[in-house]
Amino acid sequence: MNETPGVDSPVRFLRGVGPARAERLAKLGVATAGDLLYLFPRRYEDRRSLTPISELRPGSATSVLARVVSIERRSTRRKNLSLVNALLTDGSTLAEALWFNRRGIEKILVPGSEASFYGRIESKGARIQITNPEFELLEDEDRQYETGRIVPVYPLVEGLYQRWLRRTVRSALELFTDELLEWLPDFVLERFSFPPLADAMGSMHYPEGNDDWKEARKRFAFEELFVLQTGLAMRRRMRKREKGGRPLVFDGAEAKRFISAAVPFSLTESQQRVLREIESDAGGSEPMNRLLQGDVGSGKTVVAALFLLASVDAGYQGALMAPTEVLAKQHFDVFSRWFQGTGVKTALLTGSMPPSERETVLAGVRDGSVSLLVGTHALIQEKVEFCDLAAVVADEQHRFGVMQRNMLVSKGTLPHVLVMTATPIPRTLTLSVYGDLSVSVIDELPPGRIPVVTRSMKKPTKRFLDFLRAEMDAGRQAYWVCPLIEDSEKSDLASAVARFESLRSMFGPERVGLLHGRLSSSEKESVMMSFARGDIRLLVATTVIEVGIDVPDATVMVVENAHRFGLSQLHQLRGRVGRSKMKCYCVLLGDPGSPDGRSRLRVMTSTNDGFKIAEADLAMRGPGEVCGVRQHGVTDFLVADLRRDRRLLEEARKTAFDLVERDPLLKSCPGLLGEVLRRFGDRLSLAETA
Ligand code: ADP
Ligand code: MG
Repeated sequence: MNETPGVDSPVRFLRGVGPARAERLAKLGVATAGDLLYLFPRRYEDRRSLTPISELRPGSATSVLARVVSIERRSTRRKNLSLVNALLTDGSTLAEALWFNRRGIEKILVPGSEASFYGRIESKGARIQITNPEFELLEDEDRQYETGRIVPVYPLVEGLYQRWLRRTVRSALELFTDELLEWLPDFVLERFSFPPLADAMGSMHYPEGNDDWKEARKRFAFEELFVLQTGLAMRRRMRKREKGGRPLVFDGAEAKRFISAAVPFSLTESQQRVLREIESDAGGSEPMNRLLQGDVGSGKTVVAALFLLASVDAGYQGALMAPTEVLAKQHFDVFSRWFQGTGVKTALLTGSMPPSERETVLAGVRDGSVSLLVGTHALIQEKVEFCDLAAVVADEQHRFGVMQRNMLVSKGTLPHVLVMTATPIPRTLTLSVYGDLSVSVIDELPPGRIPVVTRSMKKPTKRFLDFLRAEMDAGRQAYWVCPLIEDSEKSDLASAVARFESLRSMFGPERVGLLHGRLSSSEKESVMMSFARGDIRLLVATTVIEVGIDVPDATVMVVENAHRFGLSQLHQLRGRVGRSKMKCYCVLLGDPGSPDGRSRLRVMTSTNDGFKIAEADLAMRGPGEVCGVRQHGVTDFLVADLRRDRRLLEEARKTAFDLVERDPLLKSCPGLLGEVLRRFGDRLSLAETA
């Protein structure tokens, strides 16, 4: 390439970069010259004050200005170790510098040269010593980036060096900052008094102090959040304009009849409110897209049932997808019971059904004689064709990929969609990941629930085992969860099979059952059935029972190697008990070696509140890992941090949604539109439904 490189040129065309280093830069996400500008420092070193050598204190990291008195390479006996030793002076005091394995230093720092040195100060006898200091020669003032200022520290990968990277980013800043286009609309810059792009860019790399850095950081964080929210606002608006969803019929009298005839309880305030929200949405011709959040045991299933019932009442079909076979079967059983004697014909579809049975179900779904289909991922297979699907529910939706949900949705024509999750999601994440959905929250538990008492202990004590036996004798039930199915040579974690054997001999073989993912579906089904009936009192299981399982007589949950599980997983597991008015217990076994494991157990024993647990999870693991949102990709921010930038997020959201309301096609902000399309083109495509 002969022309001078521009901001969009591949980084390898920059002076001093070349193919090998370009490859390494690619690992840091840098492909173009412009990307170098967005390679923001990981941290900074404050080298503003230069300390006289006589005032240096061992233990600190400091910058010193000094002249090289002498320098020599010393040979060592060990072959692969080279040592360079220099004597430095600032005019009044001498100090020593020492470098290991740094080739060619003595050729740069020739005696008489002046440089700034930065490093950790140690004392060597009466003298001060700096080991492996970074340095910068003072001869060329224009090139002093590292002396007397706050200096950026960039993320590195193998084969890249801090000094080289500093110089490369610095020259990119000088060459290309002016080419960057300001795409934040003027009214935004004004409203928030953000610094202009070029200034902010300078301050991110070479801040003068904390204030300009903070302003710059805020601006870039806002940018990221604002593009995302603008995209979400546009997506939501376009979807709302797709008329052609079929209004569902919410017949109050029919629903009441259904509840009083089939469901053995009356709805809580929260459940009723959520139903009204669904009704006001799905009763219209714009397809509903709603996220229903409700803590474990808050009663989401009955809400889903009434939503699906409305679809069937209006003459269409409904579908519910669950992440595990055990849960799909449970939903099917509950729905069959509840809908008995109504016009709703329910069927179950899972991957492991015998072909003939499956054909019958598929035929019924196709011709419309099956009005409500419940199942696993099997629902989204090609062969499944609905006659007229108008209502879709995804239960425990965080277990599904976006694609899988979309595939289910595409089985209908603009169906109303309800996605349910029992993993409470911190609001910042809800706004980012599900920001284009309407949100309903069930924020109360059915009456009479007593908080589950949670204890952690290293090993089951005799007292606890006696207590467990007493619960079983009194007709109550327990889960005992292990991380592994079978004992493994590679791991000393507890296995369900081994624990099953020992607990059987302790409590009697007929009362103890075993459930894990390697059983056949009919085996799983028969174990679950006898646990639900109460024949099995103690169910030893893997995490197959993690989500959704509802056996109200279970009062004890034991989790082995509990510190190995994530917080949301532990919360889900604990949520299997505490589903009735009985007093329930959760015992977390294990000896957490790590501080992380310990703090997870501490969170679990100190609160039952799913939202608090989710916030703690977010704080410990960061947004990408929580609630399986990594797949959405939208939380991969460079600067913004959903843990800290909550206010900023709310502001970005409000600004974006207001803007799209006023100017749906962003005619007034072409730069912003370009940015939305560039960053989120695929994910925000109009065809996609969350
Ligand atoms: P989740 O929200 O975890 O899916 P479920 O829908 O499985 O919760 O409900 C948990 C338990 O609470 C079930 O046994 C269900 O029958 C019961 N339940 C749900 N709503 C109520 C209510 N309003 N009053 C009493 N019990 C209820
Ligand atoms: Mg559930």
